[in-house]
Amino acid sequence: AQKGLFDVLEHIISTGKEAHVFVARDTNGNKRAVKIFKKDTSDFKRMNEYIAGDVRFRNLPRDRRSLVLAWTRKEYKNLLIASKARLAVPLPLGFKENVIVMEFIGAGQDGCQRLKDTKPSVKELKSYREQLIDFIAGLYLAGLVHADLSEYNTLVDDDGKGGGPRLVVIDFAQGLLVRHPNARDFFERDVRNCANYFTKAGLETSYDELYAMVKKRKDGIVKNGKT
Ligand code: ATP
Ligand code: MN
Repeated sequence: AQKGLFDVLEHIISTGKEAHVFVARDTNGNKRAVKIFKKDTSDFKRMNEYIAGDVRFRNLPRDRRSLVLAWTRKEYKNLLIASKARLAVPLPLGFKENVIVMEFIGAGQDGCQRLKDTKPSVKELKSYREQLIDFIAGLYLAGLVHADLSEYNTLVDDDGKGGGPRLVVIDFAQGLLVRHPNARDFFERDVRNCANYFTKAGLETSYDELYAMVKKRKDGIVKNGKT
């Protein structure tokens, strides 16, 4: 608030495992999402697994407070990398201690639905699969693996302008650099989660098939010099 990134917190939209998310407004009335990480009840063991091995967080003091602050900074930095690569993520606006202010996704009061809570048509699923292939390939080329990619961390943003819904991926705190020793495992798990989602939702997609599509997209982007 002191930095002018938001003025008032309006109400809470989600109480998750590790954070509360609020709708806020800045002094011009623009909606913002404010994610406040819990300082006490977070899963410190899990957080440590993702932070250990990240060269950006070497020599981190081992107390819980430092871990939560690093976790917050990590989500902010990851969002910044992804948005600079023009990927479909909320634009990060600033952070301080355990708080991140970012672009609010969705036109409605409480934002938009998670992919998990929607019933997409096959046509929509095909568009979503393309969008997620773009996202996974683009993020990898930007140097990151999301590491918790699923229908739970994907929002469906429909501006009603007829272009069809746009997927926006959120929740980047556990995201890690592609050169992290566990990056490959997490990358494969992200692809597997997506393949499972599409198959469950009615668009049969195997892991191998989706993996190949992502690789092809990645090679295509490199060849066209888009990065
Ligand atoms: P969970 O444990 O449920 O995964 P989390 O603590 O990891 O939650 P997020 O996944 O980042 O937190 O966000 C939780 C919810 O808050 C999202 O499902 C979404 O409904 C809402 N949300 C988060 N960021 C935004 C945003 N930028 N715009 C709109 N809504 C958002
Ligand atoms: Mn989440």
